[in-house]
Amino acid sequence: MAKHKTHYEDCDVLVVGGGMAGTGATFEARHWGRDMKIICVEKANIDRSGAVAQGLYAINCYMGMQWGENQPEDHVRYARNDLMGMVREDLGYDMARHVDSTVHMFDEWGLPMMKNEKTGRYLREGKWQIMIHGESYKPIVAEAAKKSADKIYNRIMITHLLMDEAQENRVGGAVGFNMRTGDFHVFRSKTVIVAAGGASHIFKPRAVGEGMGRTWYAPWSNGSAYALPIAVGAKMTQMENRIVLCRFKDGYGPVGAYFLHLKTYTQNANGENYEKKWYDQTKELVGEYIDHHPTPTCLRNHAFIQETIAGGGPIHMVTTEAFQDPHLETVGWENFLGMTVGQAVVWASQNIDPKYTNPELTTSEPYVMGSHATCSGAWVSGPEDLSPPEYFWGYNRMLTIDGLFGAGDTVGGSAHKFSSGSFTEGRLAAKAAVKYINDKKADGIKVTDKQCEDFKVAIFKPLETYQVAQNEITGGTVSPSYISPIQGLQRLQRIMDEYVGGIATNYMTNGNMLKRGLELLTWLEEDLEKVGAEDLHQLMRAWELKHRALTSQCVTEHTMFREETRWPGYYYRGDHMKLDDDNWHCLTVSRRDPKTGKFSLEKVPVYHIVDENEKKKAS
Ligand SMILES: Cc1cc2nc3c(=O)[nH]c(=O)nc-3n(C[C@H](O)[C@H](O)[C@H](O)COP(=O)(O)OP(=O)(O)OC[C@H]3O[C@@H](n4cnc5c(N)ncnc54)[C@H](O)[C@@H]3O)c2cc1C
Repeated sequence: MAKHKTHYEDCDVLVVGGGMAGTGATFEARHWGRDMKIICVEKANIDRSGAVAQGLYAINCYMGMQWGENQPEDHVRYARNDLMGMVREDLGYDMARHVDSTVHMFDEWGLPMMKNEKTGRYLREGKWQIMIHGESYKPIVAEAAKKSADKIYNRIMITHLLMDEAQENRVGGAVGFNMRTGDFHVFRSKTVIVAAGGASHIFKPRAVGEGMGRTWYAPWSNGSAYALPIAVGAKMTQMENRIVLCRFKDGYGPVGAYFLHLKTYTQNANGENYEKKWYDQTKELVGEYIDHHPTPTCLRNHAFIQETIAGGGPIHMVTTEAFQDPHLETVGWENFLGMTVGQAVVWASQNIDPKYTNPELTTSEPYVMGSHATCSGAWVSGPEDLSPPEYFWGYNRMLTIDGLFGAGDTVGGSAHKFSSGSFTEGRLAAKAAVKYINDKKADGIKVTDKQCEDFKVAIFKPLETYQVAQNEITGGTVSPSYISPIQGLQRLQRIMDEYVGGIATNYMTNGNMLKRGLELLTWLEEDLEKVGAEDLHQLMRAWELKHRALTSQCVTEHTMFREETRWPGYYYRGDHMKLDDDNWHCLTVSRRDPKTGKFSLEKVPVYHIVDENEKKKAS
């Protein structure tokens, strides 16, 4: 262990992950904590890290309250409808009432915003989206974080949270390693804000072999946001609510601007509107939810998936009409050049010019995240002025571990935050973390050297394992005494794909399959004790895999617990095919006991705060 130098850093606010939520948290922590020591630790480099690394073409969450375009209540209703009723409305409202101020700051900081020439307002792409020239979106928000933090550490992967040894259930910081130097880093901190993004690559992706690594969600989002809190016994919510995306085939190019701005539409291989065909069948499954406007995302997926199973594919996006307009054609291409260049390259390689050929769409493998049209993540306290008692324990966005906060994809129950809402949630979490410190809740934290040293041994163990086990390699990379990160990842992806509702089964699972999946995940967990890493990059892969595996266990436990099909099109419980509002109009909350590794699950009421308040006012 001597070869891995140890660095200690003591601070007040530690932000884990410098993506959208992490940069928001770092910026806001400085606003409220002028004299505090604020550190942000990022696995990549914050200038180009996270889901927004390559840039975006639209900010997907902007109310436009200054012009009376939307109010926070409208956004709560929208998110509730899209998630089939299951959201934390206190969190959603809180984000929505603050998100415009975040966007106005982006504008001040130089993010090029498109303007409507007639009204002078931000140019709308849809009811919630505004259009930007967003190639430099991430460097712009990173600059704000860099100017706010005492120090930004790049290239350090956080692997474990430290716990206070003086007071039970209180966080004490985090540890990780530098993936370039191999140094061990200890951050003893009064508060920790986890903002480490969502989880891709836990389900087997459509792109395998030569295309492996191509996914819709960022491939480097490896579920640390979930594994770090799960490992210390924090409660999680809605982890069954994985998301499946309808995207352009092979390149995962986004469809939002196409539907909303270019007004393109989809059809089956015979040129028919297949969504209509599946209306009655969907109504059988979910009742009146199919009549809601807009149609919930999962139900649109459902029609797509059923049509494909029935032999109506491939499904196409009709672009040949819109692309005859030179302006719309330009917008169509620019949409990719600002965000998903790979889609343009895929089309070029397949001789597809969308002006003359309607490109194919596909449904993606599932992802776990908390900021898009889905809301998996940590169970957090809401704001004091909005949250009912079950949803409030003192500090906004604090997890069920004292001093541990979350934002962005980390936080469950609050869907449709997107980039601007995630940054906003980071700000809300940081404000609360500073208050927690000022209220003297973080006094007397004790983290012993032993706790840190034990983690150091655990972190570098895969290097030691490989050192010994490589001598037993029988051929290629096959050794009886170690498993490589890629072997472990592919095994994990197959388990999740085949048993937990991935593409192999058209997103279908059931109680028996889930039970078997859990057994296989437990054996994988045992084998991951023997994961070997030949260098520091593989060491990162090993820890990414361990975080993915723990996240997957939690997803599987939740999927087993919810005995209904709440979101057909995201996944199906074949043994409970119908939506069941009588028994399952509730949020699911889990906790893994850190000592035994066993999960326990409970139902928690879902409160429809917005319309309840209105009903009360009216009566
Ligand atoms: C393809 C795609 C298109 C999108 N399009 C839009 C759009 O058009 N408009 C819009 O508003 N939103 C869009 N979004 C959503 C938006 O990008 C996310 O909502 C937002 O980035 C979530 O913020 P976050 O901070 O939670 O995660 P991220 O921004 O992904 O940040 C997470 C950070 O944590 C770091 N990290 C991870 N693990 C660790 C670890 N163990 N230690 C240290 N650091 C770690 C990562 O490197 C990363 O920098 C899109 C997302 C995707 C994937």
